[in-house]
Amino acid sequence: MTTRVVFPIADQRQLNALPTVLDTPAMPWAGGAVLDALGRPLRDLRISVTDRCNFRCSYCMPKDVFDKNHVFLPHADLLSFEEITRLARVFAQLGVQKLRLTGGEPLLRRHIEKLIEMLAAIRTPEGLPLDLTLTTNGSLLKKKAQSLKDAGLQRITVSLDGLDDAQFQRMNDVGFPVAEVLDGIAAAQAVGLAPIKVNMVVKRGSNDDQILPMARHFRGSGITLRFIEYMDVGSSNGWQMDEVLPSAQVLARLQEEFALKPLDPSSSGETAERWAYADGAGEIGLISSVTQAFCGDCNRARLSTEGKLYNCLFAHRGADLRGLLRGGSASSDELLAGAIAQLWSARSDRYSQLRASGQAQANAQAGERRVEMHYIGG
Ligand code: SAM
Ligand code: SF4
Ligand code: SF4
Repeated sequence: MTTRVVFPIADQRQLNALPTVLDTPAMPWAGGAVLDALGRPLRDLRISVTDRCNFRCSYCMPKDVFDKNHVFLPHADLLSFEEITRLARVFAQLGVQKLRLTGGEPLLRRHIEKLIEMLAAIRTPEGLPLDLTLTTNGSLLKKKAQSLKDAGLQRITVSLDGLDDAQFQRMNDVGFPVAEVLDGIAAAQAVGLAPIKVNMVVKRGSNDDQILPMARHFRGSGITLRFIEYMDVGSSNGWQMDEVLPSAQVLARLQEEFALKPLDPSSSGETAERWAYADGAGEIGLISSVTQAFCGDCNRARLSTEGKLYNCLFAHRGADLRGLLRGGSASSDELLAGAIAQLWSARSDRYSQLRASGQAQANAQAGERRVEMHYIGG
């Protein structure tokens, strides 16, 4: 039976009620691998559970844009835990093996532990649990590490942009101290959320003097520090290429002090280039989204806070899955899976590759804003 499923394609915040509908005859999904138009499987789903954050990192939610007049999504617009879990279950049927909760600041979502419990119960078609993780700014981690672990969270990624307290407080722009994030990381270690990764966005001229202090601090701790190139994500951070410190230069600075040897990627679609300390003191990662695009094996889909599916971090538009869940035409999980499979099959996004080849600007759609990082998740 062929059933007609209609995908309303809406912009990131429904600021414009877009008339566009991708009117697609969708088949209930019948199993098997789902590949996109460039042959990439769907393996990783990032779920943004809130668009709110208690930080105002200049590269993500600059204070002058996200000020007291900014209107965040009302609670009724957010996907409920039941809706997120239903979608995650369907994504697992389509090949997703990894779930990452993000935001905004995911630990601000009330009762997040309940959602984690629900997601931890999902199994792949082979009967395996999903790799379940979460990215946080660490501000609430000290308080929540134990309950997150108890709920079934396996591991965690904490964002931390440096150890210099004054500089860090300027970067998060709400005066949040480094020491409390470090306490959160210690609490996560103590309860056995492992392995822990720490993400540091490197902005040339802002915190690049923290590369070596951060490496020294986390070396030998069992925690993997990853350096992320500052990206032109969203439309609010005023990104400029001269603020990007290429990973090659980060590596060169590290190699002035440490002997490092390259490691193989841990999995296909791995975003970080991995290097080990030659003396066995652990490893570091380099995420070079700007200077070395890794679109070729990008297997990540993103579910926004209000249930729109984005096939790329740099997308302008998402497909409204919430509309399908709430009284839409996907009445069964099979139809929902068929609809998502169709969206993924049509995917040809490779923004970072195009940026690298200079085509991204040419392809930019006039007048359309790219989706913001805090809304779509990192
Ligand atoms: N609030 C949580 C946090 O900061 O970890 C989760 C959401 S945050 C959007 C996810 C990740 O995106 C963080 O590691 C953050 O540093 C990174 N990020 C945000 N804006 C970025 C940008 N312009 N370039 C590179 N990474 C960015
Ligand atoms: Fe908040 Fe994370 Fe964005 Fe910083 S990077 S403003 S902590 S969502
Ligand atoms: Fe994936 Fe888009 Fe990033 Fe390329 S630019 S790696 S397709 S999210």
